[in-house]
Order: sequence, then structure tokens, then C-alpha cells
Amino acid sequence: MASNLVVANWKMNLPSEGIETFMGRMNERSYAAGLAVAPPFPFIGAVASAAGNVRVGAQNCHEGVSGAFTGEVSAEMAATAGASMIIVGHSERRKIYGEDDALVAKKVAAVLRAGLDLILCIGESEAEREAGATGAVVERQLRSAFEGVDGAEATIIVAYEPVWAIGTGKSATPDLVAETHAQIGGILDATVGIRPILYGGSVTPDNAASLAAVDGVDGFLVGGASLFSDRFGAIASVF
Ligand code: PEP
Repeated sequence: MASNLVVANWKMNLPSEGIETFMGRMNERSYAAGLAVAPPFPFIGAVASAAGNVRVGAQNCHEGVSGAFTGEVSAEMAATAGASMIIVGHSERRKIYGEDDALVAKKVAAVLRAGLDLILCIGESEAEREAGATGAVVERQLRSAFEGVDGAEATIIVAYEPVWAIGTGKSATPDLVAETHAQIGGILDATVGIRPILYGGSVTPDNAASLAAVDGVDGFLVGGASLFSDRFGAIASVF
């Protein structure tokens, strides 16, 4: 993996320019950072076919391998479709679908069981930040996700995504990102070891350079702006 990584989380959307055009444009030039695209499950194969130098991810997985779980997809199935990495613990999964730390830990184990790279999302809500609980929240999320994980075996990437900054246009300030990434780095050092830490939350071509310059920011997880190859490319090019 390149030392920096910029990941597109398309959520339940597709780029209006089309998958092939989007992927073709991302391959027209080279980036110092590694790139990845995480489309909705049914489009993993189409993204993988056109991927070129871009890695392919899934946005979620079930914790099991197979079974009577209507509507679910296992990490192994995502891998068969063409994914080499899986995002787990996204705040939309935690908030909208009630995924708690215990379930997130099971999904972390599932991704590692399938031999895929993990992108674990963590982050505090606005109320938690206002209450001064950010450090405690990210520590709880990390420790519970990594309990029993053999860090030496696994490729783990952490995405710090303050919930109040996701899809709101209200990105965290560089100072705040620096402070929280340092806290996260300390917890990783004491658990699974130092890992790349991505920042996510309203990253745009306008704020990407100042966020990328922050000590401890190894890349981005990008939602809204990742649906346009020109915007995603502009963000990726700041590394
Ligand atoms: C995300 O969903 O992971 C995200 C960071 O979204 P946005 O960039 O739209 O805030």
C-alpha cells in the first residue's frame, strides 16, 4: 500500500458520470497516494473490472460466513465479488442500523478472518465532543474493536470521522484533527500498533490540502465529494 490512502465511500449512490467513466478518469493520471473506491455491493464487480490502479472496497459486511441472514453479505462474499478491503463501523451503520461496539468487533473479526484489509471508522457525536468526551469515545471504540485482534497479522486502517462532520459540510479544523489523531495514535500504539489514520468528514477539494498537511493524517475517507472523479481526483492529489 502506498503510504497515503484516499478512499471513496459512495454509500448508496453511484457517480452520475457512470462507473466506467469515473474509474477511467481516476486512471488517467497517477497519484502519490493509493486510491480505493467502495461502491454499493452489487457494483463491486463493475468497479473491480474497471479498477486499474484503484483498490476496491465494500462498505459493510455481515459477521458470519454464510447462513439464513436475508439481505446480508459476508466478508468472504465481498471478496469473491472483487473487494480487497471492507469499511466497518461507519457512523451511519452505528446510528441508523444500531450497530454497537460489540457488533462492530464481530465485523472486524470477520474482515480479518476473510483475509481482507480493514478500514475501521470511529468518531464522536457532537454532544460527546461538547461534553469533552472525544478521547474517551475513540478509546472505547478502538479497544472494543481490537480486543483479541492479533495486530501483527492484520492490515488495519483507522478512519477518524467525527459524526458531526459527516455529510454536513462542517469539516473538523486542522487543530482539532491533529489533537484527535494524536490521541488515536497513542491508543493504537498501546493496542494493535501504529496504523495509518485517515480523516473523514466533509473533505472537499477546498479543504483537503490543509487537512492533509496535519501531522498524523495519512489519508482521507471521502463521502459526498467522492461521487465526482474531478473532485475525488483533486482531493487525492493533495498527498
Ligand atoms: C463518510 O461518509 O465517510 C464521509 C466522510 O462523508 P462526507 O465526506 O460526505 O462527509
